[in-house]
Amino acid sequence: MSKVSIVKTTGNSESEVISAVKQAIALIGGLQDIVKPGNIVLIKPNLVAPPKERVTGAITRYEVCLGIAELVKEMGAEPIIAESSAAGVDTEKVIEVGDYGKIRELGYKVIDLKKANRAKIKVTNGRIVQELDSWELVNAADVIVSVPVMKTHDQTEVTLSIKNLKGLIEDTQKKIFHTLGVLEGVVDILQTLKPSLTVMDGTVAQEGFGPIFGDPVDLGIILASKDLVAADAVASVIMGYNPEEVLITKFAAERGLGEIDINNIEIKGTIIDQVKRRFKRACEVEIEGVPSFDLLFDEGACTGCRNTVLSAIMDMKSDNIQHLLEGKTVIAGPLPNVPPESKKEDVVLVGKCVKHLHEFGTYVKGCPPNNIWVVKGIVGDRMDVGRRYATEEGVTD
Ligand code: SF4
Repeated sequence: MSKVSIVKTTGNSESEVISAVKQAIALIGGLQDIVKPGNIVLIKPNLVAPPKERVTGAITRYEVCLGIAELVKEMGAEPIIAESSAAGVDTEKVIEVGDYGKIRELGYKVIDLKKANRAKIKVTNGRIVQELDSWELVNAADVIVSVPVMKTHDQTEVTLSIKNLKGLIEDTQKKIFHTLGVLEGVVDILQTLKPSLTVMDGTVAQEGFGPIFGDPVDLGIILASKDLVAADAVASVIMGYNPEEVLITKFAAERGLGEIDINNIEIKGTIIDQVKRRFKRACEVEIEGVPSFDLLFDEGACTGCRNTVLSAIMDMKSDNIQHLLEGKTVIAGPLPNVPPESKKEDVVLVGKCVKHLHEFGTYVKGCPPNNIWVVKGIVGDRMDVGRRYATEEGVTD
């Protein structure tokens, strides 16, 4: 029977979080059956993009990785923390904001995979891809540990231990996944890389407009399991979902990669009802104080474009120019056409996936574009909004 442990933290300090991590792993039987002396153990946090503050539930806090790394080291194996952030995001910047430098100072390796040697990894019977564009380190790892943070996601309902594996493929393939089918795509990664363990950071989780712009949830838990499907099923129940609503978990269970039925999962430690709390879903969020406008994300739009557009809107709010969004239609992802009633001057087409529609609106170059180009695409030639947007280089290639 699959086991999932839930441990309540006694506080938010480094030592308290590390202690909860070690307890959670002990409750599922420790690492003896999966880690051997001399093994390379790749510890994969979620460092998708730099959050405004370190512990807001957007990225995995370093303490969780450190707790795992200490246990791995005690066993005579080599822990390596490795990640590639979302397409177009500088991983080193997230490492810095996340204070992962503290782990480096202790002598542990923290690797930006985007700068590492690439390797192709064969996918047997993949639904979306037959090969992963990954890295030598991922291929060489004896053990992979997924270390997500519990949060909602505007595209996949939640992002947990299986979705977190997308950071183990390089940017071009990440973007392709969003066109071909990200849900089955990440299950292809799970099926191929077979992570042995997940340790989930639910100390400060995130609800609402995840994966970056949501609101922190002070949940105070760590989850661990050697069955990633079971861990994601339990976490989604804690967050107020039926596990089958989370299609990544459902598809992984349908492929026989783990247990989704809560009745067949043994919970160790704290019971679910003691920590359960309904998370606000991304689709239930309105961006406060922003006037009426249309945001059209095609289902093939990558995290890169989605985050950039949302981040650009947040930038406009901070600069008090959000009124310029009124009546606009902002489109990202491979949409075949613009809504017929749209006026050309109100349409903003974000990213190279919609370049073919450039005659129907303002096209913003990039894959993904940067925030400032998106803002400039929205504000157009409004010199009165001043400063940086009016003087930036052109947004169209
Ligand atoms: S333009 Fe955006 S949605 Fe299209 S592939 Fe690039 S990042 Fe993805």
